[in-house]
Amino acid sequence: MFDYDYARYEMIELHLARRGIKDTRVLKAMWLVPREAFVEHGFEAFAYEDSALPIAEGQTISQPYIVARMAEAVEIEGTDSVLEVGAGSGYACAVLSHLAGQVSGIERHAALAARATERLSALGRRNVEILTGDGTKGWPEKAPFDAIIVSAGVPAVPTSLKDQLKVGGRLVIPVEHEERSQRLIRVTRVAANRYEEEDLGGVLFVPLIGEEGWSEDPGHTNLYIRKAFPS
Ligand code: SAM
Repeated sequence: MFDYDYARYEMIELHLARRGIKDTRVLKAMWLVPREAFVEHGFEAFAYEDSALPIAEGQTISQPYIVARMAEAVEIEGTDSVLEVGAGSGYACAVLSHLAGQVSGIERHAALAARATERLSALGRRNVEILTGDGTKGWPEKAPFDAIIVSAGVPAVPTSLKDQLKVGGRLVIPVEHEERSQRLIRVTRVAANRYEEEDLGGVLFVPLIGEEGWSEDPGHTNLYIRKAFPS
């Protein structure tokens, strides 16, 4: 029988700790979440490879290293209220639920949101709630947040998400840099009207589609063109 615990241990050692993830709370949270419960049926044996994997609706479950990197970068404390935009399979929400007091996830596809909710509840994660909707507008009823993680790429940082950060709050988000290239940006709200930005390096995410993200145009060969180069 496949030894998931050993595979998870190896993933943490080889793909996370040796590649620079230092926060022991994050490493422990990655240990506590069985990623095999979040991948599609038939992909369980690949759950601890450090890669994104396909899920329903043409989306992906994020690569473990990136989930850990974002969780570390957003510096979550035990009582924090955290928002994840682009909840997908629910895996990152499960990891965040071991780090934060309350986790709110938003997913655009209702079927993914429903499945994520089922998985999180089966694992007994009581401090996570997933909403179906356009996460580019955030979740005003749950705001303000201590930390926001966006798990899909945007053309520019959505104003609604910046507005929903507490003063001192952190937002980690992949932002389009040049066509087909993204940078992971950490935005810190240092005062009511002042934000600081840091570039954490190159990343590759699916697009965040919505009012303050990319527009969806399935007939177009390049989803990004209309937002990047408005006429
Ligand atoms: N973090 C997820 C996980 O652990 O499985 C994976 C996220 S996947 C890389 C990005 C997700 O963002 C997709 O499930 C996609 O449907 C979702 N998404 C795209 N645009 C969105 C929007 N405006 N609001 C909410 N979710 C969105």
